[in-house]
Amino acid sequence: MRLESAAATHAGLVRTVNEDAFLALPGLVLVADGMGGHAAGDVASALVVHTFDPLGGADHRQAGDVVKAIGEANRAILAEARRHPEKLGMGTTLSGLAVVDEAGAQHWLVFNVGDSRVYRIEDGNARQLTVDHSEVAELVASGRLSRGAVRTHPLRHVITRSLGSTPPPYADTWLVPVAAGDLFLVCSDGLTDELDDAQIAALMLESPDVRVAATNLVEAAVRAGGRDNITVVVVAATPDSDEAAVVELEATVATVPRSTLVGTEREASR
Ligand code: MN
Repeated sequence: MRLESAAATHAGLVRTVNEDAFLALPGLVLVADGMGGHAAGDVASALVVHTFDPLGGADHRQAGDVVKAIGEANRAILAEARRHPEKLGMGTTLSGLAVVDEAGAQHWLVFNVGDSRVYRIEDGNARQLTVDHSEVAELVASGRLSRGAVRTHPLRHVITRSLGSTPPPYADTWLVPVAAGDLFLVCSDGLTDELDDAQIAALMLESPDVRVAATNLVEAAVRAGGRDNITVVVVAATPDSDEAAVVELEATVATVPRSTLVGTEREASR
C-alpha cells in the first residue's frame, strides 16, 4: 500500500491573515483553524502543528499518542495565553487522520475538535466522518434546523468545542481500517462554507493526483467567494503490488500563493 498526501492553503479574498495551519507528514495529517483577537488565531493553530510535529516521525503510533498530543496542544495554547495576556481567548479547531496500530493492524484514527472536517470519498460521494462541534450542528441534531439551511445560518461559525479551553475539550475519535483505494479530505470551514458535499466529491474525483485535487479544491473555494481562510489536505491510499502491506506516505505540500488567485479585496465580513 502506498499513501500519498498533499495540502493547499489560501488566505481567501477577505482576510489578510491566514490563521489556518496544517501538517502533512507520513501517516499524520491535520488541519487547525485558529481564532482569536490580535491575530492570535495563527499562534494557536501553529502551536497545534508544533505539538503534533514529533508524532509524524513515530514508527508505531498508538491512538493514545494522538489523544495525548491533543491534550498537550490544549495546554500549550493556554500557557502561551497566560504569558501574553493580549492573546487570551485564542483557540483553534483540530481535525485530522493518523495511521495507528490497533489490535495488530493499521488503522486510520480520525480525530476532531470543532468544525473543521474529515471526509471519506465513498462510491462517488463525500461522506463527512467527523461531527461538527457547532451550534448549528446541535440544531440539526435536535431537528430544529434542516441540513440545507446550515451553510447560510447566522450561527454557523459558533463552535462548541475548541483547543485553548478550560476544562480541556473532549476530542471525538474514530478508528477505520486502512484499505487500498481510501480517499480522504481534511479541511477547514473556509472550504465547506463555499462548496457543498457534491462539489467537493466531484473535485476530489476529478484528478488521481492528490496535489492537483488539493489545489483544485482551494481554487474553487476562492472563486466561490473565499470569505474565510481555506485549507485542505487530501490523503489517498493506492494499491502497490510490489510493496503489499507496507504503508508509506509521501507527504507533498503544494501551497497556493495568495497572489496567484487574487480577486477584488473586500471588507472583512466576519
Ligand atoms: Mn475558518
